[in-house]
Amino acid sequence: CGRLVVVGTGMVLGGQITAIAKSEIVNADHVFCLVDGLCEQWLSGLNSSLTSLQKHYAPGKYRPQSYRDMVDAVIKAVRAGQSVCLVAYGHPGIFACVPHWAIKAARDEGFEARMEPGISAQDCLYADLGLDPGTHGSQSMEATQYLIYCNRIDPAKLLILWQVGLAGEISLTHFETDRARLSLLMEKLMADGYGMDHEVIIYEAAMLAMMPVRMERIALSRLPEARLSGISTLVIPPAFDLKPDQAMRARLRALGPLKAD
Ligand code: SAM
Repeated sequence: CGRLVVVGTGMVLGGQITAIAKSEIVNADHVFCLVDGLCEQWLSGLNSSLTSLQKHYAPGKYRPQSYRDMVDAVIKAVRAGQSVCLVAYGHPGIFACVPHWAIKAARDEGFEARMEPGISAQDCLYADLGLDPGTHGSQSMEATQYLIYCNRIDPAKLLILWQVGLAGEISLTHFETDRARLSLLMEKLMADGYGMDHEVIIYEAAMLAMMPVRMERIALSRLPEARLSGISTLVIPPAFDLKPDQAMRARLRALGPLKAD
């Protein structure tokens, strides 16, 4: 009977895939992939029964419809009784809805479905930029989501804004942003407490072993003119120190040494 496993390739082609993910790809009856052309070629060497889902994107097509069409294609193969592997780049469950929707759709129809983790852009940025999410705490948000919701971020923690190259593209039909939308993003960040001179980092992890990493540090005021692409992530270091909670510290001290219950 049909089953679905969703795996990630990691970011660096051929170099960051886990042994489990590779084995799932090799042993699947059918592999669907949502990766770039080079990675597609590499995957076809692991399993010749490969279908790219990129064809469901089309200029001007509403992106959620493209995602639904991708899920339908995957589920059709699962229903046909195949052992299906869906491959996405990076970690398949991080800022990627098709893998999550496909797993839900398969489980809703009673099929076995699971996800294997992979190395995401965020994992690479911690390594390349020498940042530890444990130092100040870390928050991750999709850039447009940050713009269109009122929930506040905390400028004392590291902030990672994904899909900044599409920031403010609310029609969900295009894959870029522009100066006006980036100006609004800059304004909102300033309203949240970051100064105009605060340094932000445009980060693009290497996707080929010999490719350089982009780590461009600019003042927040220069964000509207920044050159961004579909693989840019905006990293915003904390603007303030964490504020000690003196009342909680006092309560913890008052508890004295830890006792076994
Ligand atoms: N699942 C992917 C992962 O695990 O990294 C994320 C996919 S999400 C749809 C696309 C966003 O991921 C981009 O807009 C960007 O923010 C980030 N991204 C993708 N490739 C990247 C790269 N090479 N370097 C930095 N960020 C990247």
